[in-house]
Amino acid sequence: MADIIIKNGYILTMNPAQDDIKQGVVVIKDGIITRVAESTDETADTIIDAKGGVVMPGLVNTHTHAGMTLFRGYADDLALSDWLENHIWPAEAQLTGNDLYIGTKLACLEMIRSGTTAFVDMYIHMDSVARAVEESGMRAALSYGMIDLGDHERGMSELKEGRRFVREWNGRADGRITTMYGPHAPHTCSRDLLGLVKEYAIDDNVKIHIHILETEAELNEMKKMFGMCSVNMLDELGFLDNDVIAAHCIWLSDGDMDILNKCGVNVSHNPVSNMKLASGISPVPKMLARGVNVSLGTDGCASNNNLDMFGEMKTAALLHKVDTSDPTTLPARQVLEMATVNGARAMGTNSGMLKLGCMADVIIVDMDRPHLTPVYNVASHLVYSASGGDVRTTIVDGKVLMDDYRVLVMDEQKVMDEARSATEKILPTVGLTRTT
Ligand SMILES: [Zn+2]
Repeated sequence: MADIIIKNGYILTMNPAQDDIKQGVVVIKDGIITRVAESTDETADTIIDAKGGVVMPGLVNTHTHAGMTLFRGYADDLALSDWLENHIWPAEAQLTGNDLYIGTKLACLEMIRSGTTAFVDMYIHMDSVARAVEESGMRAALSYGMIDLGDHERGMSELKEGRRFVREWNGRADGRITTMYGPHAPHTCSRDLLGLVKEYAIDDNVKIHIHILETEAELNEMKKMFGMCSVNMLDELGFLDNDVIAAHCIWLSDGDMDILNKCGVNVSHNPVSNMKLASGISPVPKMLARGVNVSLGTDGCASNNNLDMFGEMKTAALLHKVDTSDPTTLPARQVLEMATVNGARAMGTNSGMLKLGCMADVIIVDMDRPHLTPVYNVASHLVYSASGGDVRTTIVDGKVLMDDYRVLVMDEQKVMDEARSATEKILPTVGLTRTT
C-alpha cells in the first residue's frame, strides 16, 4: 500500500521524458515518487484530491540566508555598502543562536506556505538554523558563512567552525539536511582560506556555497589585489567545479562565463535582491545559452523582502526581457526549470521533477482563483499570475507539511509572535550602535 496518492490534478512533471498529464495521479511511498500516470489501482493511507490544482515539483531556493527574516523591512532603500556595513552587520552581531532558531523557523514557515521545499543557506549560528530546519520538515543544504578579511588567525578559526558544522550535521534529519562549506566571497576571504576550503570540501565530500561578483566594487577590488577578476582567481586556484554554487554572478565578462561553463559551476540568480540593491543585472540568458546550470534564489529577507519563489520567477522572466529588449527571452517553461530542475541539480538531489524514483518533494497550486482564471497555459500562469499564497499543499520527503492551506508542522501564530519579540530586543541595541 502506498503512503500518499494525489489524484485529479493537472500533473506538471518538469520531466523532459514525460509530458504533463491533464488529469492524473502521483503516488508516493517511503518518501519516493513511485508513479506518475493518468490513474492507479493502488490504495494509500492518505488520498489528496487535487481537483482544480496543479501538482508540481516543489520549488528550490538556491541562495538565501533564512534567519534574515528577522530583518525584513528593517533597512531599505540604501546603498549596498551602507546597508551592509552600517545596518546589517551591526544587527547581525546582536543575534543569538535562539534568535536565529526563531528567524529560521519563520523562514521555513514562509517557504512551506509559498511552495518551496528545499533551500540552500549560508549564515551564522548554524546549529540553531539546522535545528529549526530539522523540526520544520524541510530539505536544506546548510553552510556556516566564513569571512576572514585577510586575517589568517580569524580565517583558521572560521574554517574550524565551518568544518565542525559540516561534519556534525551532514546527512541529519533522515538525510533532509546536507552541509556545505560557505566562504562568503572572494574579496572577503583570503586566497589561502579559499584554497583550504577547497581541500576540506573535497576531503569531506561536500559542496561549496559562495557569493561571486555581486558588485562592481568586488570586481575592482579583485583587479587591484590580484590583477584579475574573481572568476579568474578562483579558476587559477582550482576552486571551480560542479560542486560549487555561486550566488549572483553579475559582473562577468564573456571569458568568465566560458570558465563557469567549462568548470560546470552552478549559478544562483537572485534578481529581486540584485534589483533592490541596484547591484546590476546578471547575464543569465548568455549563461543559459552556453549551458551553465542557472537556478533561482531569493537571497535573504533583508534584500528581497520575502522568500516567495513565484515572485522570483516572475521577476527573472521580466528583467531579462527588458534587459535584452526581447520578449521571447526566458519563456515561462524555462523559468520554471530554473526554479525546480536546475535548483535540484545545483543541490545534487534527486528531485525537481515528478518522476519515478525521485524524492517526493511535491506541491499543489490552487488554480481555482480569480487571478488564475481562465487557464490557457499552466506554465504561464505559474510564472506570471500566481504567487506563493496560491500554494495549497506542500509535501517534503513524502511528508505532508501543509495540507489544504493548514500548516501541520508548527504553531504558526507562536512562530510569528516569537519573531516579533526577538526583533523588539535586537533593534534598540542596533539603534544605539548606529548613532555612535
Ligand atoms: Zn547572499
